[in-house]
Amino acid sequence: MNIKTQEISMSILKDKGVKLFIKRIDQSHEYISGNKLYKLKYNLLEAKRQAQSTLLTFGGAYSNHIAATACSAKESGFKSIGVIRGEECFPLNHTLNFAKEQGMEIYYLNRDRYRLKNTDEFICELKQKFGDFYLIPEGGSNSLGIRGASEIIDSNDVQDFICCSVGTGATISGIIRSADGRQKVIGFPAIKGFTQLESDISCWSNRSNWELINNYVCGGYARINKALLDIIYTFYETYNIPLDAVYTGKMMLGILDLVFKDYFPRGSSILAIHTGGVQGNKGMVERLGIKLPS
Ligand SMILES: *Cc1c(COP(=O)(O)O)cnc(C)c1O
Repeated sequence: MNIKTQEISMSILKDKGVKLFIKRIDQSHEYISGNKLYKLKYNLLEAKRQAQSTLLTFGGAYSNHIAATACSAKESGFKSIGVIRGEECFPLNHTLNFAKEQGMEIYYLNRDRYRLKNTDEFICELKQKFGDFYLIPEGGSNSLGIRGASEIIDSNDVQDFICCSVGTGATISGIIRSADGRQKVIGFPAIKGFTQLESDISCWSNRSNWELINNYVCGGYARINKALLDIIYTFYETYNIPLDAVYTGKMMLGILDLVFKDYFPRGSSILAIHTGGVQGNKGMVERLGIKLPS
C-alpha cells in the first residue's frame, strides 16, 4: 500500500521545538476506514482458508467496522451479516445504508440481547438462524486483527512518539508490537473504561513502551465539545485533512494539548496515525445537524 505521511506545520510546534507528522492510513482504501482494513486482512484470509462463504460481525449503528466489513466482504466475494446493536430506525443512517448497498444483511438486536453476543449459546443460536459463518468480533479486535494492525507502522516510521486513538485497544496493541524499543506509543481513549483497556493492551501487546492518556475522551464515546470541533475545523481548513469526531479528532486534540503542556521534549518527533473513521462524521451530521468534513 502506498501510504503518505505528511508533516504538519503549526506555530505551536515550532515554538515548542517538536515535529508532528500524520500517517494517512485513512487513505489506504476509498471506502474502508484505515485501521479496520488492517484488522480485517488476516481475518479474511483465515475465513478463506476455512472455506467459509459468509462473514458475520457485530457493531453499533454508526460503526466504522460494520461499514468496513460490508465493503471488504463484497470485494473478497463473501456474503456478510451485520448484527447491529439497537432497534431498526428509518430512514437508515448513512453507515447502515452503505452496508446494505454493499450487500450486507442487517440483523438488529436489542441492547440486552446484544450483551450476550460473545456467549457460545448465543453464537449457536445465530448459526441455527443463518447457517455456518466465520465470526469476526466487534471492531475486528481479535488476535488476527492485532496481527494486521501490527502492519500499520514499519521501520520507516522512525519518530520518537507514535500516537493513535484507542477503542478496544487492538490497533494500539499491534502498533506497540511493531514499534522499536526506543519509541513510545501513546494511546488516546475514545471511550470510558480505562482500567479494562490498560489490562487488555498489556495482555495483547506484552510490552511496556506505551501509555494511555485519558484526558481527551470529551465526555464519552461519540460525545463532542467545542474544543474538539475547533481542532477538526482547523485541520480541515488549514491542511485539508478530514478528522473524525469519534476517534482521530480526540487524538489530535490530545496531542496538541500535550505539546502545549511540554509533554514532548524539545527536539522530539511525533507520528500521529490517522486511523480513518471519517464515514462516521456523516452520521453525526445527520443526528446533530453540525458541520463536519466527510
Ligand atoms: C475503530 C477505530 C479506532 C479504534 O480501534 P481499536 O482497535 O478498537 O482500538 C480508532 N480510530 C478509528 C478511526 C476507528 O474507526
